[in-house]
Amino acid sequence: MKKSIRDFDLNGKKVIIRVDFNVPIKDGIIQDDNRIVMSLKTIKFAREKGAKIILLSHLGRIKEESDKEKNTLKPVRDRLSELLNYDVIFSNVTHGKELEDKVNSLKDGDILLVENTRYEDLDGKKESKCDEDLGKYWASLGDIFINDAFGTCHRVHASNVGIASNLPNGIGFLVEEELNNFKVLDNPNRPYTVILGGAKVSDKIGVIESLARTCDYILIGGGMAYTFLNALGYNVGSSLLDIESKDFCIDILKKYKDKIILPVDSIVSKELGSDIKLKNNNEFSPDDIGLDIGDKTIEEFKKIINKSKTIVWNGPLGYFEIDKYSKGTKEILDTLSKLDITVIIGGGDTASAATNFGYKDKFTHISTGGGASLELLEGKELPGIEVIDEI
Ligand code: AMP
Repeated sequence: MKKSIRDFDLNGKKVIIRVDFNVPIKDGIIQDDNRIVMSLKTIKFAREKGAKIILLSHLGRIKEESDKEKNTLKPVRDRLSELLNYDVIFSNVTHGKELEDKVNSLKDGDILLVENTRYEDLDGKKESKCDEDLGKYWASLGDIFINDAFGTCHRVHASNVGIASNLPNGIGFLVEEELNNFKVLDNPNRPYTVILGGAKVSDKIGVIESLARTCDYILIGGGMAYTFLNALGYNVGSSLLDIESKDFCIDILKKYKDKIILPVDSIVSKELGSDIKLKNNNEFSPDDIGLDIGDKTIEEFKKIINKSKTIVWNGPLGYFEIDKYSKGTKEILDTLSKLDITVIIGGGDTASAATNFGYKDKFTHISTGGGASLELLEGKELPGIEVIDEI
């Protein structure tokens, strides 16, 4: 069993907590604060125990200097302060004197949020490539490291694996809960159905293969469905097509044709946001873009869902951010919410859809991690967890 935050005496200790504050932000406004809310349990616990808390998180990607401003964690500091009713201290820099001074002046119960760890990526991708010196430097700021960022546990970064390799360490409550929830899938009640959607097939190839072996049905919707339909010989017009994954789709459809269920119809538009039409698979014009599953597909998916005992869902079934393409995702959320079975929803977009459409508390578990939850489903060890000490 992995060590947890409960196993340490935190009083007066500088505790570095890697949290996942990678939240969607538009024009400085946080669109969905679920990840911040989910991290509160660990932060509050450390505070109550008298720790001096140092929070680290990434936000978005930093490839050039101009990415910094739109990916600052300042809006997160403000939201976190509101949620805690406490003025969270902020370090504008990820290394150097300002950060060190702020760490050294922390009093017991204080919380310091450090600016986006990926600012370090501007200098040779030090965070994302787990630069050894950077991991050591951040570790030198604290006494104990707690990993509570489930969403990055599948990555080897300086702010998770790097620090953990240099300090006594454990997992936080959020990571613990995520791992416990996914354990159900070691021995799922059957039929066990997986719903996959979202944009790209290539991100999900590994999981499709391993799930096809273990689950009873895979329902595929979203943009990724069109590569599969194309592999079956359909003209998918101007829909998303991941041509490099086509051979994989052909193989997997041959192997698991009874398990994999694809859309039979779609909502199409000529341009994103323009008029919509309902079309069967064989009716696409060259300029049609498939942007949601159609009514017959929704009914087919519901039939399988209604006889399932365990459901895992990763990836929205349409371009749900635009209302006219959100029906498939909404109807499936609604169907799932009425069932008394195990339903696990993973992936940032699917979790946002569930929250934004009003189904936040209706399921067994909504995971905060997209890639991490997919890798768990694949049966892989997550490096961010592997590095944590055993009790
Ligand atoms: P992913 O990160 O691969 O899970 O993709 C999530 C994104 O896929 C969301 O932003 C959805 O809007 C988008 N998406 C879902 N269905 C489609 C579709 N049919 N065409 C284009 N994008 C889609």
